[in-house]
Amino acid sequence: MSLNEPPKVSERERHLIDQIDAISNQLCQAVDGTFDFYVEADSDEIAIQKLAQLNNFLLETAHRTLGELSDSHRQLEARVVERTQRLDLVLTATNDGIWEWDLKSGLVTLSVRWTGMLGLPRPEESRPLDDWLSLVHTEDREAVERALYRHLDGLTKAVNVEYRIRDARGTWRMVLCRGLCQRDEQGRPVRMAGTQTDTTEQRLSDSLTGLPNGHYLDLLLNERLVEKSRQPMSLVKFQLLNVASLFDGVAVEDAVKALRSLVQRMRRQLPPNVSLVALPEHTFAMIFETAEVLALERLLEPLEKLLGQPVEIEGQQVWLSHISGVAILNPQEPISADEWRQQARLAQASARASDSGARRYYSEALRLGARANSRAEQMIRGAIAANGVRCFLQPIVDPLSGQVRCVEALMRLQDPVDGLVNPAVFIEVAERTGLITPLWEMLMDQALKLLKDPAAAERFGNEFLLSVNLSARQLLDSSLLESIILRCEREGVSHRRLQIEVTETAVLSEPAKAFRILQRMRAAGVRVALDDFGSGYSSLAQLTSMPLDTVKIDRQLVVGVNESPRKRHVLAAVVALCQRLEYDVVVEGIEDAATLDLLCGWEAGDIQGYYYARPMAFPDFIKTFTQPSPHPQPPRDVSWEPPTDAALR
Ligand code: C2E
Ligand code: MG
Ligand code: MG
Repeated sequence: MSLNEPPKVSERERHLIDQIDAISNQLCQAVDGTFDFYVEADSDEIAIQKLAQLNNFLLETAHRTLGELSDSHRQLEARVVERTQRLDLVLTATNDGIWEWDLKSGLVTLSVRWTGMLGLPRPEESRPLDDWLSLVHTEDREAVERALYRHLDGLTKAVNVEYRIRDARGTWRMVLCRGLCQRDEQGRPVRMAGTQTDTTEQRLSDSLTGLPNGHYLDLLLNERLVEKSRQPMSLVKFQLLNVASLFDGVAVEDAVKALRSLVQRMRRQLPPNVSLVALPEHTFAMIFETAEVLALERLLEPLEKLLGQPVEIEGQQVWLSHISGVAILNPQEPISADEWRQQARLAQASARASDSGARRYYSEALRLGARANSRAEQMIRGAIAANGVRCFLQPIVDPLSGQVRCVEALMRLQDPVDGLVNPAVFIEVAERTGLITPLWEMLMDQALKLLKDPAAAERFGNEFLLSVNLSARQLLDSSLLESIILRCEREGVSHRRLQIEVTETAVLSEPAKAFRILQRMRAAGVRVALDDFGSGYSSLAQLTSMPLDTVKIDRQLVVGVNESPRKRHVLAAVVALCQRLEYDVVVEGIEDAATLDLLCGWEAGDIQGYYYARPMAFPDFIKTFTQPSPHPQPPRDVSWEPPTDAALR
């Protein structure tokens, strides 16, 4: 056999080759991914039969495995669809939008719901992170960026940040953004994705009334203040004072319903472009685009007219009272939202201190007053901390005998900056803040010592009284009597030598309770004096019913009596009235001998005034004040005398 000649093939070999070839041809189908066939072999050769059988076994296994795989694939797909539907449902229900930040490209993809939430069209393609951040309120932008990057750096477990974002209409919405970062095997961040939830309803609206709330007002104020050409504007705070009356004896739900309906009607009284914002304590805020007082009055008129009508609730009628404070913006003056709100708050507080229905406008005087009050409060707190309460004493004298019948304790504060401070500066603030109680206790600790001071006893005897002023708040404290008695016991003096001075205004805030407390005082032996009678609106009716020992006639009725016969008549009549009602009388503010002559001529009663002594520091009083000599009684002045009992009958 030459090298070029093909090897001789036997018939059997030919048969085997043909069979193998036939099997290979059949197996070609598997290349196309078909495995559901059987290999056939037309041969008695054992090896061929074995080859065909083994192939068929492999084909069957492959066919079965593929079937199983496609089953699991189908199941998996079904589960993915189901899960996606469920997620969609949840996101729809929560109205959440989805965002994904590809950290490699730096681009952010936003879902339709994310952009739809803000009324914006969905961008065709992914956009840089800055596009998102540019919609965020400038004050919140830093917080959002910080939240994203802190999580990216692995410092936080998740992104969780709430912020304000501008919607397509230009108004602000509040949203909550949550997200998680996905990392590769090396822990490198790959993408961050999460949700954005609209929380405007919860955060920017008031749950009771459904109106926009204080956070919303902040946004409005800030927005108006940054407008380039600032319009004339006014911020009005309108407060309903007695909303509690709506709830009196009525189911809470009904009262709430009535309030909501009232608020809705209030909203309708305003121009549609003016938001009615609900603030705490039944206060409502509005911004009007005018700086004219007359225009404002006109705008508020419908609202006030509405509130002039009663609210119907369960067949009853409830009248609500209100006050308002207005801060008109000065277009030239740079001002922050905080300051503007503060101005309206001051005007509102000043209206609250006046009658119902009052409207007050912010002014420089109000600001100065508020500053003085806050300074006074600091001064009081400082004095309490540094033991700066000083007790000053002023005698009350029976002019005809010269006897000191009583000594009034008057408070002063020792301030490191302002020196000795008079009560006019701080008493009102002390009463309003409740700080009067600790101040008064410190005053009492010093004043009571007068009743056991040997020098005082030597000069004025052991009968004179110590008179102390009480504020309304103290007067209405039911434990006042016990605490006074306890204090006297501790000091070792008798509470029967004590007189309390109360003013009509203090009594009038709760007359029934005040009367009860005063009665108990008198029954226990503490004397009660009505202070400042004749100043302000004194009521003669109170004079007949109040449990009293003494009436102190205010200096206002005394000033000018020598020059004005009409004034003289008024003072004479008041003195006579008090005497007739059998009260002891003290006339305050006597500064000169002529007035004293006049009063002595009337046998008016005891005298307190600079004529005898100015209020003096406790040690100075003890050191320098001596009992005055009796004032010579002038001839009895009958020109003023009241009608006699006989004439009255
Ligand atoms: P008040 O209780 O009517 O005290 C009398 C005030 O009249 C004192 O003023 C006294 O200095 C002043 N006064 C007395 N005689 C004359 C006079 O002849 N001419 C003039 N121009 N004034 C005279 P003060 O000490 O400044 O006290 C003012 C008010 O402060 C007191 O009026 C009282 O209402 C209140 N106050 C003083 N101490 C206390 C206190 O401890 N507690 C409370 N709640 N109020 C106090
Ligand atoms: Mg007094
Ligand atoms: Mg007085």
